[in-house]
Amino acid sequence: KIATRCDIMLFGALGDLAQRKLFPALYQLERAGLLADGSRILGLARRELSSDEVRKELRERLKQYVKPEEFNPSVVEAFLQRVEYQVLDFNNEAGFGLLNSWRDEENSELIVYLASPPAMYGVIARNLRSASCCTEKTRVVVEKPIGHDLESSRVINDELGEVYKESQLFRIDHYLGKETVQNLIALRFANNLFASQWDQNHISHVEITVAESVGIEGRWGYFDKAGQIRDMIQNHMLQLLCLIAMDPPSDLSADSIRDEKVKVLKALRRITPDMMETYVVRGQYTAGTSTGKPVPGYLEEEGANKRSETETFVALKVEIDNWRWSGVPFYIRTGKRLPEKLSQIIIHFKPAPHYIFDPDQKHLANNKLIIRLQPDEGMSLKILTKDQGLHKGMRLRQGPLELTFSEAFESERIPDAYERLLWEIMKGNQYLFVRRDEVEHAWHWVDRIIQNWSDGGDPPKRYAAGTWGPVASIAMITRDGRSWYEDA
Ligand code: NAP
Repeated sequence: KIATRCDIMLFGALGDLAQRKLFPALYQLERAGLLADGSRILGLARRELSSDEVRKELRERLKQYVKPEEFNPSVVEAFLQRVEYQVLDFNNEAGFGLLNSWRDEENSELIVYLASPPAMYGVIARNLRSASCCTEKTRVVVEKPIGHDLESSRVINDELGEVYKESQLFRIDHYLGKETVQNLIALRFANNLFASQWDQNHISHVEITVAESVGIEGRWGYFDKAGQIRDMIQNHMLQLLCLIAMDPPSDLSADSIRDEKVKVLKALRRITPDMMETYVVRGQYTAGTSTGKPVPGYLEEEGANKRSETETFVALKVEIDNWRWSGVPFYIRTGKRLPEKLSQIIIHFKPAPHYIFDPDQKHLANNKLIIRLQPDEGMSLKILTKDQGLHKGMRLRQGPLELTFSEAFESERIPDAYERLLWEIMKGNQYLFVRRDEVEHAWHWVDRIIQNWSDGGDPPKRYAAGTWGPVASIAMITRDGRSWYEDA
């Protein structure tokens, strides 16, 4: 179903996010026939360009970021007809008056997309209010990061909250737009097979890995202020953990799902200083190799401060203190310059209560559910069967029940996360967006770890680029008699 007619004001329209992700995603919605007739996009930024010049630039960017087989010149032209550009300094309150002449309040919904630096969210919101550009129905989209700790996130949320109600705010965590991430909800709550097994009686532990093979990619200054825990754990990885760990929501409404996620965040065991050694590993990459080529260490990257102690890798053992998960650790790790780009979740089920097969094969005897977010989105359930052949007796073999989405649903293109998110915004559905209390509970938990580091924790442990992180991250899990999953 086509969403209602929308006007999108895109603040920061010439920035990296808008050009690389948002415009291509909007183009894909156009290609799919999902943009309502009359929907328009007003790009806003400082650079002195005309609408024609911006459209010309966009045509080139779309060629660059859309796959050739998906680039349809006539659809591109139809899409560009919707785009206009207005030069605006977001600090200039008076300039916002111009926006009213573009608005068509009677006929279309207004979406305000803040793809600007987060420090500008408050001023843009206030200036829009002064210019009376927004109504109670306006939807406002904000990008991460919402602050760099609990206190600064509260400031941003307060500034937005002064002007907009929570029901108008769409905080993006683009992981929630990924097809497989939404499939976690379908997998868990549409299959009673799993629903009845999803607790400490049946699951021994859970692993979540989000590995990047790239390094800093020219963003040293930005990244060094954040570090991997703020950049990846506070948002994406805690969101994944919540979707795995939450109780069944009573329906699919935004607040039912978000209420359940918040309960998980509140149940995360706080990591106290005495737990740091066994529950937390932070690392920083040194020179090594990436896809066979030599690459510099974090401290040798362009623009680096040689004394930086910012982490490029984090591994955590997370305990959830509630009825469902008591005694089931979640091991999570994420880092840059790891051997491959890989995001996966592994649910390790407990072995059968009494084992009757070859004692040498006992290590195989637990089922695993592997949920791959990238590459090759899909799921694989490792089950045990008898090995084939007369001479094999009752030897076991562990094999996958495999579902690779691109193969199983061959005709269906997997949409990019931003396509899904923009589509949900147009429909006014908040279930894939993060509520204020989620952001703040996540910061509260993460801040504690960062505080422990700054209160005299060890400096980050070194790992060579192209390896799976510091040895201590392997020790963290082997200490519990387990190992990080490697596909054999
Ligand atoms: P960017 O490349 O620096 O772009 C920022 C945009 O904001 C530019 O169009 C810039 O306009 C405009 N801008 C900044 N200050 C302005 C002002 N005072 N008045 C008018 N325009 C102003 O940033 P980005 O990478 O696109 O990121 C945008 C937001 O998305 C940030 O909140 C970022 O944290 C978030 N985000 C980005 C990514 C990503 O992949 N890039 C991923 C996740 C989240 P001019 O070009 O005219 O100066």
